[in-house]
Amino acid sequence: MTTPVTLAILGASGDLAHRLLIPGLGTLLNTHPHYDVTLVGCAADELTHDEWVGRVKEALGDKCPKESIERVIATTRYEKLDLTNSEDLRGLLSGLGEAPVLYLALPPSITLRLCEALQGIDIPAGLRLGLEKPFGSDLESARRLNELLAGLVPENQIFRIDHFLGKSVVLNLLGLRFTNRIFEQTWNKHNIERVEITVDEALALEGRARYYDGAGAMRDMIQSHLLLVLALFAMEEPPSLNERDVRDLIALMLRHTQLWDDDPVAASRRARYTAGQIGGREIPNYVDEPGVDPSRNTETLAEVTVRINTDRWAGVPFRLRSGKALGDARNGITVLFRPVDHVPDGFIGVPPNVLSIGMKPANIKLGISTNAESNRFALDQSVLSTDLAESPLKPYGEILDSIFRGDPLLTVRGDVAEECWRIVEPVIEAWESGLVPLDEYRAGGAGPSSWNL
Ligand code: NDP
Repeated sequence: MTTPVTLAILGASGDLAHRLLIPGLGTLLNTHPHYDVTLVGCAADELTHDEWVGRVKEALGDKCPKESIERVIATTRYEKLDLTNSEDLRGLLSGLGEAPVLYLALPPSITLRLCEALQGIDIPAGLRLGLEKPFGSDLESARRLNELLAGLVPENQIFRIDHFLGKSVVLNLLGLRFTNRIFEQTWNKHNIERVEITVDEALALEGRARYYDGAGAMRDMIQSHLLLVLALFAMEEPPSLNERDVRDLIALMLRHTQLWDDDPVAASRRARYTAGQIGGREIPNYVDEPGVDPSRNTETLAEVTVRINTDRWAGVPFRLRSGKALGDARNGITVLFRPVDHVPDGFIGVPPNVLSIGMKPANIKLGISTNAESNRFALDQSVLSTDLAESPLKPYGEILDSIFRGDPLLTVRGDVAEECWRIVEPVIEAWESGLVPLDEYRAGGAGPSSWNL
């Protein structure tokens, strides 16, 4: 039996649609061939039907079975629209049938204007809305967006997307935490000294100035992805894995989260890359990239340290960091354990336990101290390591599946989106007031030399 779905991608000519969303759909149609998807692409670009079909075919990719590709391209269509214009939107909605999915693959400013333009239009019964991160561009716009959305459809038909929640390694955090006695018993301030959540990438701007130069690493990565990973890492045990139980606890954890010492200046650092080389590729100075406005002072590397005000986590610093154009693209969670309270006299050099949860590649490494070969009382660190099974679904495949099924578990609730802005907003304000220097680092390097990395 097939499940018909109409999926309208608004912003279909953009990078996200082509590079992640439609390829994710391709993996979904591979594992869930029962979805019969009518794909409607919309954007301001002029595209012929053949050009659109060509793009869809390419983006569905080789993971998508031939029959599914044929089925999608037989019915797909492209509509050139101004997505902030009520008449254009009315026309689009009237042709989508019942319970369509409207996926807004748009920058936050356009999403806000689109939601304003939707007010007063007849909304098809059962319409589901997918909205990309960042959700708004600050706390005020996130609140406004939530108000506008509440006037359109019920909360359970709103899917605020953060594709990190679709990454199997991020979801695996719950299994790792709550089903392993050795971890669950040690997951607290008594055993853990500090936690680092780092998502660095070797990619530079790659032609995305239109979006990125108005966002920067703090809004693009930390405000959304990394704070959600933090909440999943630190949250209390949910009664079950249903959306209400898990999302309540994510929200609660973020409500407990504050900047370290409540000081946005001391708790944050920012930097921007200059010209360099990555993997033999010449990377231009960020400010010389086409479309970049140097006066915006957009950071390409952001770091913030937060604390969680609970008895479990009091005093443990959580450092969140993300940057572009970094040579050593570290990616994952590092948990540094405290030393044991007492070491018998005679042992030489006791390395701490370190747990690393890699996101890309997905793996777990646990550093333990073991006797060195040369001297049985000298200790070395040995690493126990395992690769994690990758899901056959790409994160956007997981996310589309959850929207199609109407299960918001892997998406961000309205209050959580606002909470994330509440945490980082003082940092953004301090940066905009010039209270934190904008450091520099060479593309392909490890970050600013003054950061002692
Ligand atoms: P792009 O700038 O590449 O694409 C934006 C899309 O929006 C284009 O299709 C553009 O059409 C369309 N658009 C903008 N304004 C209008 C308008 N008034 N009317 C009609 N269409 C319009 O951005 P991305 O695809 O990179 O990003 C989109 C969102 O997805 C962002 O919020 C980003 O944070 C998020 N995201 C992106 C990721 C990525 O890797 N790209 C990863 C995760 C999230 P046109 O070109 O015709 O103007």
